[in-house]
Amino acid sequence: MPELPEVEALAADLRERVVGHRIQRVDIAAISALKTFDPPPSALHGQEITGASRFGKFLDIQISDLHLIIHLARAGWLHYRDSITATPLKPGKGPIALRVRLDDGAGFDLTEQGTQKKLAAYLVRDPKLVPGVAKLGPDALTSDAATFAARIRSRRGQLKGVLTDQEVLAGIGNAYSDEIIHRARLSPFAITDRLTDEQMATLYAATQEELHDAVTRSVGQHAASLKGEKRSGMAVHARTGLPCPVCGETIREVSFADSSLQYCPRCQTGGKPLADRRMSKLLR
Ligand SMILES: [Zn+2]
Repeated sequence: MPELPEVEALAADLRERVVGHRIQRVDIAAISALKTFDPPPSALHGQEITGASRFGKFLDIQISDLHLIIHLARAGWLHYRDSITATPLKPGKGPIALRVRLDDGAGFDLTEQGTQKKLAAYLVRDPKLVPGVAKLGPDALTSDAATFAARIRSRRGQLKGVLTDQEVLAGIGNAYSDEIIHRARLSPFAITDRLTDEQMATLYAATQEELHDAVTRSVGQHAASLKGEKRSGMAVHARTGLPCPVCGETIREVSFADSSLQYCPRCQTGGKPLADRRMSKLLR
């Protein structure tokens, strides 16, 4: 799933390539992806793209006085094309959810792989009209240390869950939370309101370093190469069974119903493996 650094990079890519161009046509191929009906997509026809930015993991494309806000969900992506066919896109079952064709013949597709269709697009006059945007906590990249600590402590729970809660802090998802918690040498199951001031300071520094590094690596990469870039910078996420780059210990994972987390026992949990219900069932 694209997180803060990738969405930041997509916005930067759009600022470079599409801002200043007029939209010739918008086609919606996956009707369910568009969550709003007023104004209609045809309101964008002939309008100039004036900016691109983000709210947490939401991409915000400004078009005159409207906002096309996109949540890419787990399997969504944005593909810029130098040339897009002038034939209107037909609604269908393919991966393309929404297509924007520009006045110079270029454009971009929003795509979603797989059968779970979670990609969401909203065309609104005010970003706050998007429920997920209205509920976002402060941005993880720009929060100062005091705000960060107060937000984390405001929600009592396991660190992994609280750090990825978009209402606590906006922008961090499953991958970067694994990386941040590893960098801070904390357990993903540490209870947030029991973190010491020192641990909190370490967690804040790790968050800043991880996100700034990832944004630096990602911005300037074109959208097509971003996903590989994300993966190559990871120390523990999606690296189960591989050696920890810090200490050499084997990375382990804990599985949940529809997700998993990865961690290094030596760096993060005093050498003790965390309980994994699925793994203990297999070993029984
Ligand atoms: Zn380690």
